[in-house]
Amino acid sequence: MNFLNENHYRDSMNEIDSIETLELINKANSLSLKKGYTEISLERAVFLSWWCDKGDCKFCYMSTQKDKIKDPKKARRRVNNILAEAEMCSRLGWNIEFLSGGYKSFTTSEIKSIAENIHSITGDGVWLNTGITDELEEYGKEIKGITGAVEAANPEFQREVCPSKPLNQISNMLDKAGDLGFKKAITIILGLGESLEDVEYLKDYIKEHKIDRVIFYSLNPHPETIYVNSSQPASLYYANVVSSIRLAFPDIEIICGTWIDNLANIGILILSGANGITKFPLFKMFGTKYGKRVEEEVKWTGRTLKGTFTDKDKLGPEKSQINPEFDQYIKRYIKESLKNKYQ
Ligand code: SF4
Repeated sequence: MNFLNENHYRDSMNEIDSIETLELINKANSLSLKKGYTEISLERAVFLSWWCDKGDCKFCYMSTQKDKIKDPKKARRRVNNILAEAEMCSRLGWNIEFLSGGYKSFTTSEIKSIAENIHSITGDGVWLNTGITDELEEYGKEIKGITGAVEAANPEFQREVCPSKPLNQISNMLDKAGDLGFKKAITIILGLGESLEDVEYLKDYIKEHKIDRVIFYSLNPHPETIYVNSSQPASLYYANVVSSIRLAFPDIEIICGTWIDNLANIGILILSGANGITKFPLFKMFGTKYGKRVEEEVKWTGRTLKGTFTDKDKLGPEKSQINPEFDQYIKRYIKESLKNKYQ
């Protein structure tokens, strides 16, 4: 079967029973309230580099950049810029979803040093999403958890979509992370061509590898990838999957990504059991009608938002309160946050 055939996705969609979906959401919402999940976090993935040595995952923006980057070192972000971003996240109450970087962009000791600095800035351990590694022993208390970029839990489909990220290697890394005392997260992208039945693979995976946190994204169809003309997944499909996982795993943390053109997904994903939301251009959206919309979406679920998307006072001074070497970057983030690009 060609998993990447859009019909595969559509066929499975025809089997959806709308009443069942609404019931799932309703139950997931009741369960979430019972568990006390009333505060929703804004999560910010902090990128380390635009380079990825693998560069062949079928959906990924970085796969379109590999041939264009002549010097991978130049695709790395400046460390002071990364740390200034962490300072801004801390000021605004945004969580750092994880440190993320393509393969072979930073060494383990460099990642560790960045994580140590972020830990001292935010006071919180850092999640990593920096690829499959067998050097986990080098990390310590600066790291809260390790993320496996599973993307698709059906092993056959996963092989097709991410040919250079073998699922068994991701699983081994996560198991080892658990043995070393780190928490474990996985990322899952919906809309790649999977079917609703693949939720069963996902449930098995979460159970088998004792996953603490699942981060869902919806497909962002990038130019120059095979998905360029694909649609993003339907909001009710997304909600169905998230509700099913929340009901099966009441205690895990669920983060849901939705892009700026799909803000209407937020409310229904929170009702479905999301603890946090992510995947926004946060500084660009800050204070704009889109930032306000995020806050409205959260408000209408009856939850509160941790942090702010609109309170300009929280941006703070233009100078770093931690290190003068961050000043130029802090100034730039504040300028970007105050500029309304969407008028
Ligand atoms: S390994 Fe990660 S960064 Fe590299 S191409 Fe795949 S998804 Fe993109």
